[in-house]
Amino acid sequence: MRITLGDILSGRVRIVRRRRRRKLPETAEVEGLRRQAKAYLPVRLAELAAEYGFSYNQVRIKHNVSNWGSCSSKGNINLNLNLMRLPSELRDYVMLHELCHLKYMNHGKEFHALLESVCPGHRALQQQMKEYKLV
Ligand SMILES: [Zn+2]
Repeated sequence: MRITLGDILSGRVRIVRRRRRRKLPETAEVEGLRRQAKAYLPVRLAELAAEYGFSYNQVRIKHNVSNWGSCSSKGNINLNLNLMRLPSELRDYVMLHELCHLKYMNHGKEFHALLESVCPGHRALQQQMKEYKLV
């Protein structure tokens, strides 16, 4: 459709100004997420670990663009503060994924079977993660 000046002046076509996105300065936004993440993620990880019988060494909150979480062979778990941007079921999925790496340091069959047992439907959640980008 071609819009003419007449359409606009007559009100047949309305120009909607896009609302400017309110954006906090990056550091304040990240600080806020970090505060939330530190208060929430270690507690939730401990709950999930207790519920499903995992034991890890340390948990750290990180800010990076390479992963949502990671697990080291020493049993340390790192969680990205951007997890606080995700719906709670996806946050849990990431934490359970990392907890399962305490037993299998790969993405093999046994890893997925274990993850499925503690997080039913995890493949669908894994798909949903693609909608979220780390920036
Ligand atoms: Zn993994």
